[in-house]
Amino acid sequence: MDNERDPIEESPTAASEKSDCETAEPRRRTPWDTVDGRVISLVSRKGGVGKTTSAVNIGAALALSGHTVLIVGVDPQCGVCRSLGVEPTDLSTGLAEIFTGPKALTDLAQASPLRDLFFVSPRIDSLDDEEAFLEMLEAHADDFVREIDQARFLYDTILVDCPPNLGSATRAALMSSDSYLVPVQAEELCRGTVDPLLEFVGDFHRRAFVGQPAPDGNTAGADAERPLRLEGLFLTMANERTRMGRHVAARLAEDFGEELFDTGIPRTTRLSEMALRGKPAVIYDRRSPGSRAYFDLADELVYRFHLESEAAEAAEADAAREQQVKLPASGGGGLDRFLAELGGSREVSSQIPAFEEPSSPEMVSLDDLLAEEEGKSGESEEWGDDPWSGSRPH
Ligand code: ADP
Ligand code: MG
Repeated sequence: MDNERDPIEESPTAASEKSDCETAEPRRRTPWDTVDGRVISLVSRKGGVGKTTSAVNIGAALALSGHTVLIVGVDPQCGVCRSLGVEPTDLSTGLAEIFTGPKALTDLAQASPLRDLFFVSPRIDSLDDEEAFLEMLEAHADDFVREIDQARFLYDTILVDCPPNLGSATRAALMSSDSYLVPVQAEELCRGTVDPLLEFVGDFHRRAFVGQPAPDGNTAGADAERPLRLEGLFLTMANERTRMGRHVAARLAEDFGEELFDTGIPRTTRLSEMALRGKPAVIYDRRSPGSRAYFDLADELVYRFHLESEAAEAAEADAAREQQVKLPASGGGGLDRFLAELGGSREVSSQIPAFEEPSSPEMVSLDDLLAEEEGKSGESEEWGDDPWSGSRPH
């Protein structure tokens, strides 16, 4: 991978070959470490709220910024695969093979025409296929979790696109995830589904993990072994021009504060054309308001991760400092002697320099960055005729 490459190009590389190009290439947009191996499920009880559209566009936006992304569709409607231009029946392998065959999930990952973006989808041809697939996810959720855990080593981000219910597929997805992201359609009815959803996920998570023995047989702290966080909520199909749109946005902000992403996705026809075109909107019309919003959402996702990591590091440093301050006074022992040598007293330990806030790297929008690059090279601002269609996943 080099920084000058065309981000959309033939991508015959199998996902498992990622190690060949693991040479810490500088990221295009996000100078800090990426969302390393994080698994995020897109969850909602309601259909048609933009889970699949969001999984595919966030995935593509992250991939364009240099993250290696895997999108796992667990919805038997196979929206992920269709949105990436492949009919499920044309797939040579499907997700169910992790249960029925010798293949690992990482072997089933299909390359998309966008380098760094891979996907796995069920291959559903009939109602029987669908039932069998859901039953397998129910009976072997642990296998699914194990497979996803193995995939963490190959991808920076794994997005799991769930069906519009809280059945076996969503449950398996939640069990395998670090966090879940909830798209909320800007309608009152949809807003009302958020609280019950969060409650359900909390209950499910407690039942699935609390009290369940850890691998060493220890039940205490099993929950801590596998935390599941709410990544956040974001508005989809938002229409700031209608009173309802503004009302729902205001109420969500009031109810969920920080948990609501600053970025909302507007309702636009360009986004609704995605399945028809068989490629992410951030590819076919990256300057449209919907695409810009997805770039911003992907930025915000990474930025929030960065802030969390900083906060976790700061908390660790605080804890370490506290530990140091609390060292027992041991009659002229180590610390006292050390302090005396410094010419001070025990109070000196409180003068240990305060933890310095790491400076936050400045966010650069990919869109602006690409526009700059194009300006330099004098290239057209379009992607070309149809670079996506020339290289179908195999
Ligand atoms: P889900 O996966 O939650 O069922 P989808 O992502 O499939 O929802 O979206 C449902 C429909 O709404 C699709 O036809 C999609 O193209 C369309 N859609 C999604 N997001 C938007 C948007 N922001 N503006 C307009 N149409 C959208
Ligand atoms: Mg969907």
